[in-house]
Amino acid sequence: MPSPGENLRINSARLWDSLMQMAQVGPGIAGGNNRQTVTDADAEGRALFKSWCDAAGLTMGLDRMGNMFMCRAGTDPEALPVYIGSHLDTQPTGGKYDGVLGVLGGLEVIRTLNDRGIRTKHPVVVTNWTNEEGARFAPAMLASGVFAGIHSLDYAYARKDPECKSFGAELARIGWVGDEEVGARKMQAYFELHIEQGPILEAEKKTIGVVTHCQGLWWLEFTLTGKEAHTGSTPMGMRVNAGLAMARIIEMVQEVAMAAQPDAVGGVGQVNFSPNSRNVLPGTVIFTVDIRSPDQAKLDGMRAEIERRAAAICDDLKVGCAVEAVGHFDPVTFTPELVGRVRAAAEKLGYAHRDIISGAGHDACWTAKVAPTTMVMCPCVDGLSHNEAEEISPEWAAAGADVLLHAVLETAVVVD
Ligand SMILES: [Zn+2]
Repeated sequence: MPSPGENLRINSARLWDSLMQMAQVGPGIAGGNNRQTVTDADAEGRALFKSWCDAAGLTMGLDRMGNMFMCRAGTDPEALPVYIGSHLDTQPTGGKYDGVLGVLGGLEVIRTLNDRGIRTKHPVVVTNWTNEEGARFAPAMLASGVFAGIHSLDYAYARKDPECKSFGAELARIGWVGDEEVGARKMQAYFELHIEQGPILEAEKKTIGVVTHCQGLWWLEFTLTGKEAHTGSTPMGMRVNAGLAMARIIEMVQEVAMAAQPDAVGGVGQVNFSPNSRNVLPGTVIFTVDIRSPDQAKLDGMRAEIERRAAAICDDLKVGCAVEAVGHFDPVTFTPELVGRVRAAAEKLGYAHRDIISGAGHDACWTAKVAPTTMVMCPCVDGLSHNEAEEISPEWAAAGADVLLHAVLETAVVVD
């Protein structure tokens, strides 16, 4: 059967209504949400989502990480399912759309197929991944990471929240441990719709981001050792100033990132001066350099240059310098064939689009390790996310879900 025409659209009002209903669960204090993973609010959100899936005729698979797989059957029992997914958990002061749009956008795709009586060869499965945010239990994307074989189940169960409650015990407490082995499922493809969480699409008046890559990153923790000394009585020539070395390194990181354009970033977001007293030169300075690029060679090159030049800066100032890599993700290249389907769908539907690189981590970054994967992005106001004020328009949400619908249908194969 030929591909559905450009008149096939999701029901924008129904999608928006579902987003607003989910936002009632685990309300924040400033108009957003606090629906952190494996809390009572998470359980309530899951139950609401499941009730909608039940009404849409979907059957649920639940794995030992609490990942929910809501399946609409295909016509070919041998065909691998096409997955759509994201997450319903939020930051402690999170927004109404980060993650939620991808899950409820997937549900809306299925509701639309039901409305139109469209059958597909491959099953279509909407997934809610547990603990994408990592705010309560680090690291982020924990359950999709277990699914992709990055973490073991035991490692995940043993993660502790700030109150020393374990992930495994809390998942059991809220009643969402399934018996399905994590990662046993094979995917024909995985699609994730997500808000951009950055300002590019809105600034360029594009409705759709065709996501080609996820950035890789290095977090480099620097420990600089100087000499604590009185800021008034120590002559300039006799100082061993770890703070000055840090300042020069931050400036240098900026230069390295600027020289690696386009599509590379670098900066310092966390610093710790000790003793952090206004009239004492710091004896110890600890700070983290965060560098990112979608290009592995460029990313590793930036790291090497930063470490080499930092050593020279510290030598010059007689400051001790130790570097430890405390975080790393490889860059991800999404499956070109699926990326092409997202681009073609945006084109067909008449939505202004551009290729874009995800600056944040997503469950799709882990599924890409085990399945053909890609993402669709829509704008968010002022690029604001991980903030209760996070906002999108109903038109942007609908455009994202429309593109998802058509890209998924190309992959799941419409049956006459
Ligand atoms: Zn998210």
